[in-house]
Amino acid sequence: MSKLEMQPSPEPEARSPSHLFYLSSLRRPLVDRAEGIYFWTKDGRRFIDGSSGPMVANIGHSNRNVLEAMKRQMDKTTFAYRLHFENEPAEELARKLASKLPAGMDRIFFVSGGSEATESCIKLARQWAVVTGQPKRWKVITRFPSYHGGTLGSLAVTGDDALAESFTPMMRVMPAIPAPTAWRDRDNLSMEQRGVRYADMLEEKILAEGQESVLAFIMEPVGGAATAALVAPDSYYPRIREICDRYGILLIHDEVMCGSGRTGKFLGGDHWNCRPDIVALSKGLGSGYAPLGALAAPMRLVEPLLAAGGFQHGHTYAGNPLACAAGLAVLGEMDRLDLIANAAAMGDVLIDELKALQKRFSFIADVRGKGLLLGAELLADPETLKPIDPARKATQRLLDHAYARGLIIYGRKVKGGVDGDNFMVAPPMIITREQIGEMISIIGDSLEALANELDLPVER
Ligand code: PLP
Repeated sequence: MSKLEMQPSPEPEARSPSHLFYLSSLRRPLVDRAEGIYFWTKDGRRFIDGSSGPMVANIGHSNRNVLEAMKRQMDKTTFAYRLHFENEPAEELARKLASKLPAGMDRIFFVSGGSEATESCIKLARQWAVVTGQPKRWKVITRFPSYHGGTLGSLAVTGDDALAESFTPMMRVMPAIPAPTAWRDRDNLSMEQRGVRYADMLEEKILAEGQESVLAFIMEPVGGAATAALVAPDSYYPRIREICDRYGILLIHDEVMCGSGRTGKFLGGDHWNCRPDIVALSKGLGSGYAPLGALAAPMRLVEPLLAAGGFQHGHTYAGNPLACAAGLAVLGEMDRLDLIANAAAMGDVLIDELKALQKRFSFIADVRGKGLLLGAELLADPETLKPIDPARKATQRLLDHAYARGLIIYGRKVKGGVDGDNFMVAPPMIITREQIGEMISIIGDSLEALANELDLPVER
């Protein structure tokens, strides 16, 4: 959690002292239980989990089959260190996961979270370069704004000035190119031409940095928290692949948020038939039942490392049988309930509803995303791209209005990034049409309250 990751403001009565500290010392309501898309607090209130937490609870809360599978595994063993034993849940999960990934992405390395996943991708890329005689390659080009994790290695490829500023002297901050915010551009180019132009910025950066020093490019195929579900024009994706191939650079897809089915395909990159070299997954893979993440890569990258003595990297809890049993059951439920198809279908309904709200509230400048990873950007004047006065804290206020009405949505402002306010809607993939209606009605009321409070234009 970052200091700019916005949370609903705490209620005054909830400000009791605690030994816990996270974003601040302020406290939230005590959660009691969760089921499906809902949370209940100890004081008896119900909340719709309209963002699946931070886009984690993909299959919804308290799924009985997942809980039963975890209990069965708990009765056998919860932990067996991967350097001492193989375990069946890890083997089976790796097999099942590989079957859902692009052909050949069948070597799986488990971790316990998203930052571990992206950092592992970077380290795999680097060690591969070293053992294949390319030790000069070490730079990982990223995009700005972006979020790839909070550990020092993953933060070094995160494009967010506020998150990085205290830690910059302690890490090797990596070069960045602009995220493809093509919808904002006021030029005479088509969206497809803009997509190519944004991709070509990668080539320019590679040449500026010295092509022999560049190891990899990391990006989210469907943007997450830093860009509020930004999607590039279709032309961007194949062009990026072409450029990476031209310079022998590895393409890392961070699918931590957009992967695991949320966008209506198993991987976000599947919408464009992308061929990344390494993929990072987490969040929805464990769906909140267990801390779980994974890196997937083809044998051609892994084999040279194994021949040279193995991947010099690992975490204690990686691939533990309990987390893997949870992940396996999560994927099982995704198949049984056909949740990826539901994410695609309900995503279509939800984006249409958000676009209808955009007609009602002219300060909604853009609605975007794929499947159930959707976002909207708010501006005082969408024509001139004039932002809402930051002092009005529009994102924070909107989250508060929704929370007060029993709906959790997500929002985050990135320092140095696009200066619009934004919010994201990403409910669990089990959501129904009726529940979307319930959410949209609260979002509409919350936008209305925001418009009144900040005197924002509502007529188009
Ligand atoms: N990568 C992306 C795209 C993310 O959205 C996140 C978390 O929000 C991470 C990496 C880091 O994951 P974690 O918080 O599990 O370390």
